[in-house]
Amino acid sequence: MSKTIIVSNRLPLQIKLENNQLEVVPSVGGLATGMKSVHEDGNGLWIGWSGLTEEELDNDLSVKVKEAASKQNCATVPLTEDDIENYYLGFSNKTLWPLFHYFMEYTEFENSQWESYKLVNQKFADVVLEHIEDGDTVWVHDYQLLLLPKLIKDQKPDVTIGFFLHIPYPSYEIFRIFPWREELLHGMLGSDLLGFHTYDYERHFLSSVKRILRLEVKFNEITYHDRVIKVDSFPMGIDYNKFHDAALKHKNLKANEKSELQRRLDDHIQSGSEAKLILSIDRMDYTKGIPNRIRAFEYFLNKYPQFKEKVRLIMLAVPSRSDVPQYKKLKRETDELVGRINGQFATVSWTPIWYFYRSMPFDNLIDLYTSSDIALITPIRDGMNLVAKEYVATRTDMNGVLILSEMAGASKEMNEAILINPNNFEEVANALKNAIEMPEDEQEKRLKFLQKRLKRYSVEKWASEFMKSLNATKSTKTAIIAKKLDSDRTSKMMDSFQSSKKRLLLLDYDGTLVGFQNNPQDAKPDNQLISLLDSLNQQKNTDVVIISGRGKETFENWFGNKDYNLITDHGVWLKTKASDWKMLERLKTDWMKNIKPILETFVDRTPGTFIEQKKYSLAWHYRQADPELAKIRTIELNTVLTSLISNNDLSVLQGNKVIEIKSSNVNKGRATATWLVENSYDFIFAAGDDWTDEYMFEELPESAFSVKVGLKKTKAKYYVKNTENIRDILLNFTSHHK
Ligand code: UDP
Repeated sequence: MSKTIIVSNRLPLQIKLENNQLEVVPSVGGLATGMKSVHEDGNGLWIGWSGLTEEELDNDLSVKVKEAASKQNCATVPLTEDDIENYYLGFSNKTLWPLFHYFMEYTEFENSQWESYKLVNQKFADVVLEHIEDGDTVWVHDYQLLLLPKLIKDQKPDVTIGFFLHIPYPSYEIFRIFPWREELLHGMLGSDLLGFHTYDYERHFLSSVKRILRLEVKFNEITYHDRVIKVDSFPMGIDYNKFHDAALKHKNLKANEKSELQRRLDDHIQSGSEAKLILSIDRMDYTKGIPNRIRAFEYFLNKYPQFKEKVRLIMLAVPSRSDVPQYKKLKRETDELVGRINGQFATVSWTPIWYFYRSMPFDNLIDLYTSSDIALITPIRDGMNLVAKEYVATRTDMNGVLILSEMAGASKEMNEAILINPNNFEEVANALKNAIEMPEDEQEKRLKFLQKRLKRYSVEKWASEFMKSLNATKSTKTAIIAKKLDSDRTSKMMDSFQSSKKRLLLLDYDGTLVGFQNNPQDAKPDNQLISLLDSLNQQKNTDVVIISGRGKETFENWFGNKDYNLITDHGVWLKTKASDWKMLERLKTDWMKNIKPILETFVDRTPGTFIEQKKYSLAWHYRQADPELAKIRTIELNTVLTSLISNNDLSVLQGNKVIEIKSSNVNKGRATATWLVENSYDFIFAAGDDWTDEYMFEELPESAFSVKVGLKKTKAKYYVKNTENIRDILLNFTSHHK
């Protein structure tokens, strides 16, 4: 039975070592909850680091940890202190984390840490490969493991791999700074499905893929070698019922059951009818905007002094990565700011900020959430932000206001919160005032919408939607358009070639016999190609026809001294071994003077594009243009052209990074049909790469061997990856000739 393997940096286990005694308890975090059903389904397995380095474990303990993990359906990846220093604290948290959160000034590019990152990703791959079988599914989590999908896919192409990024994916302009950007993207593209929290992260990723790797992207699908990769957004939710139910239970606590913290909170609430508590909870991380928030609060107290002694900011900052220098600096800065502001504003009965630097048990978090009138959540950048969602889930009395930064992924789904730009103190201060003064019915109205959405799209739903989408990629994989021309099929084709009496080889030129060049004139036939064509052309009972959209003059120039069969201009001109050029189709060209100025306006507005004027067609090339701009322009141009061509007998061909306009009574299909009427064959081989070759494929008899270069939708029977493969086949023909 196939299984699902989950991979994350840390296992969802808390493993403690005290006096050589091992204590293992499952963690209760959001991710663990969401993945629960995925993990428990069938013989699911979770692979990750235990939290204890190899140096902390002797042989005996190491076995015990493995056994304990295995009991929880987990397998451990052994990491050393050095790995943690360089891969985790180093590359993950000093390079990827700051860069992906737009903190360029904090981003370090250390080659040795990159080496360690690669090494540790390989360590994860080794453990995965130990356990995985064909047909299994893998779900890889987060930025520590960006290279893992490829490492698995390269070894096991028949497993289905999903990847989810829990942090933001930055804009292309940021991502391009990264020195190892290609490797990182190739690593991620080992996946069949890539998930992000928001559509913005998704489109930033697609933009990087298009611009850096220059890959074909259609809507949210990337064509990559012979695979189609899907990219989508799945906003992560929370365990809604857990928070909501805990809040309901909390409401019914008797006085003596209340925590010390709750009693102190109650004291403040009861200090006056206008008393308000403002809550902020985050890990102590520079992305969370903690100093900004404190300064904005100071600004608020100065701007609206009427709230002094009435409102109080409760700030819980959970220690995090405190070994990294920037985090130490942040802690110092926060301590100083809180000290200064409390010193400046405090009265005998009031301190404006209650500041806790620690983590709190779940019940205390519920105390804080349920007692606070306002949650002030102002990250500078945040992948999602679950605290915002948890606050909303605990507001069972239908009051409370959420102020949320636009820079948090959560803001995309929480429109009913007061959304603010955390860098604008004026806006934050006004938002606080509005929140304090917001009428109860307004609070209720907003919360209703927010709660409904959070309840529906819980963390369980998030995980199941991702898995559904990941499983769906399996069926698109089997519905691949053409079959791969593998060695079995090739040898059958060669047998048929050898036993046939009369053969036709129909060969497209650009993208089939030669690769693309930025300038079409540079794609001249090389010596190797010429000698290959020469020897094919000399074979008895074999007709070689090069069939191209190229102009007659170009081919005359390149092949003028050869006796090849040539069809040019998509089928307008024909030259055969026996006779000179003749026109297959008579064509009008008077339309060009009207269309060319239109194309020129597109060239003016789209740097890197140019017009190629052929005798019977006009082509607008955009291979060198910025892919995103080109995409917009091709849509525009198609719209403009469609309205013009209907009454002009013209057709628009979408080639490989080129749009070509020509009279509509010519195409490679008509030329192919004409050729086939005049000759008869018992072996036909046809190869092409783009849309214009589809006309040719359409006209071929069922017995023909039609081959498309690249994995695209096609009427061809087979596909190969590149022009090299086509040349190999042709070479093979020369040696199979009798
Ligand atoms: N949290 C916690 N202990 C605390 C304070 C917070 O476990 O003392 C939890 C909180 O309930 C939330 C998570 O930590 O689920 C923080 O997630 P978020 O997405 O807000 O930020 P991240 O830390 O992932 O950047």
